[in-house]
Amino acid sequence: MIDFRRKSWVPGADSSEFPIQNLPFGIYSTSSKSRRIGVAIGSQIIDLASLAKAGHIHVPADVLNSLYLNDFIALGKKVTNQVRVDLAHLIDVKNEAFSKRADLSQFFDAMQDATMYMPIQIGDYTDFYSSRDHATNVGKMFRDPANALLPNWLHLPVGYHGRASSIVVSGTNYHRPKGQTKPVETEPPVYGPSKRVDFELEVGFVIGKETTLGQSISTKDAEDHIFGLVLFNDLSARDIQQWEYVPLGPFLAKNFCSVISPWIVTIEALDAFRVGGEIQDPKVMSYLEYEGKKNYDIKLEVSLTPENGETTIISQSNFKYMYWNMCQQLAHHTVNGCNVRVGDMMASGTISGPEKHEFGSMLELAWKGTEPITLKDGSTRVFMNDNDTCTIKGFAEKDGVKIGFGECVSKLLPAI
Ligand code: MN
Repeated sequence: MIDFRRKSWVPGADSSEFPIQNLPFGIYSTSSKSRRIGVAIGSQIIDLASLAKAGHIHVPADVLNSLYLNDFIALGKKVTNQVRVDLAHLIDVKNEAFSKRADLSQFFDAMQDATMYMPIQIGDYTDFYSSRDHATNVGKMFRDPANALLPNWLHLPVGYHGRASSIVVSGTNYHRPKGQTKPVETEPPVYGPSKRVDFELEVGFVIGKETTLGQSISTKDAEDHIFGLVLFNDLSARDIQQWEYVPLGPFLAKNFCSVISPWIVTIEALDAFRVGGEIQDPKVMSYLEYEGKKNYDIKLEVSLTPENGETTIISQSNFKYMYWNMCQQLAHHTVNGCNVRVGDMMASGTISGPEKHEFGSMLELAWKGTEPITLKDGSTRVFMNDNDTCTIKGFAEKDGVKIGFGECVSKLLPAI
């Protein structure tokens, strides 16, 4: 069990979103250090390679100096969790001996001096569609309000295979995508920049243990295959999507850019935030049945910042609103024998809550363009404007301790 009273001697860590109980993994460099694995603590990054060199943790140097976390994650939870246990021991407030070492500075780097990179090399990316409120809202807008959910939705976690190459780390900006749209129903389609660029508030999980072709993962074993979670902004071009998606689903509307937060929060660090999910009716098939609490109470927030403008919070949702949990998603994904590999990314689908301020996309917040939202500077939006910056934040909180994800930030640049 996580001890929420535990403190660290690292200044500011206890009250930050990266306290001793979190210790998420990322990839960073500084002006004097090459790309390597780091762990966030307060406003500092712990340099694992230098700690290993000094004999404080026991992981091969080539793994720690790697460009991505994949090889480290592949060592298995026994090893990666032991690293977090060993780190916590070093930075515990009771460990005065370590806190007073003369050579301490070599093990730490200030976050503000660091460049963060994609933490993993993503082999495959799958996006689900697992929030009931989101799927219902979309169904109401585009199909039949009386039968908003399609017939399969309550029986299986709907998803599609996305593209890994265009997933980028927070801080990477992107251009307004161009493509085909059909703005007027009765006119031919047109080519040009999308007029309906949207964000999607999602949480992604990273596969930590591979399977072989033909093997299925049970809901019981699923968490053993999940290394950790990130915030995920599945940027979407709604006008391109609407024209192209029939009959094979999302394509170019979804793969021009998706953004993740740089720190992977381990599923173990979130253990105390488990909550029960919605009762599933109709009863799910046996391979989707699960025991225990498989949803997570993680507060999520989206804000929009116009160029040189004030920031407005436009959505406040929660990861607990998922109808299909991560274990069910993974069980369904592999029920046919599809194998998963370390570093694969699975995203939740847009996470909307029941209330309007909990909707996880502009499409829903401004209800397909019919109810513009007003920002603090008085301007209105139905979708994102050029040079708007979208920021997702997320954290779980208990007894005054925050387990945070950092930020997932990206700016929409004009079309090239
Ligand atoms: Mn999505």
